[in-house]
Amino acid sequence: MSLTETPDHSGFIQRSNSLAGSVYEAIFAQLMSLKIAPGARITVDNMVRELNVSQTPIREALGRLEGEGLVVKTHLIGYSAAPQITRRRFDELYVLRLLLEPDSAARAAAAMDEAKLAVLREAAGVMGRREGADERIRYSTFARQDAIFHDKILELAGNELIRETLNHQHTHFHIFRLMFHSRVTEEALDEHEALLAAFAAGDASAAEKAMRIHLEHSRDRLLPAFE
Ligand SMILES: [Zn+2]
Repeated sequence: MSLTETPDHSGFIQRSNSLAGSVYEAIFAQLMSLKIAPGARITVDNMVRELNVSQTPIREALGRLEGEGLVVKTHLIGYSAAPQITRRRFDELYVLRLLLEPDSAARAAAAMDEAKLAVLREAAGVMGRREGADERIRYSTFARQDAIFHDKILELAGNELIRETLNHQHTHFHIFRLMFHSRVTEEALDEHEALLAAFAAGDASAAEKAMRIHLEHSRDRLLPAFE
């Protein structure tokens, strides 16, 4: 997963200006917003027609999405959208996150300075700045930015093993794909503000609490996806 790219002033993630990047972004948005349903076949030929590009960038994008856990490739069958995570996996993910992220937020807050705070503010700010963009693109961008924001906090907390462990789960892609709903993003923005306030104050216990509340609310917002 590419978590190092920085957004430009317009809030778009400038992965590259290449065709491959745009094709990737288009398919990513369809997967995240469930336009391509979990488990559905994805044929290269259909994508070629739909996006009006050659096979090469489609194959590149699908390979990258496979690495991110959003697409699976089956021998002799080809590509399909990864199945939705199970309720059990969802519960396990949130237990893991609740064990690791509130403590990491406290450590990040204790190590906070102006430069680090600016990085976190920028990462958080991009999520709210997509007015006018296509709803699916906005949603998928939010999911990616949320991943970057949480990853930055883990980076500042300073434990690379914890950071790698959570990155490896592609948590944010899987949980945001459970439900395509604006409430998921709007409420999270307020919770991120509370986190940023704690970071700005360098208040470790407030940051820990804000992260715990954010994760618990995030879990509760997405739970209806299993009903
Ligand atoms: Zn978040």
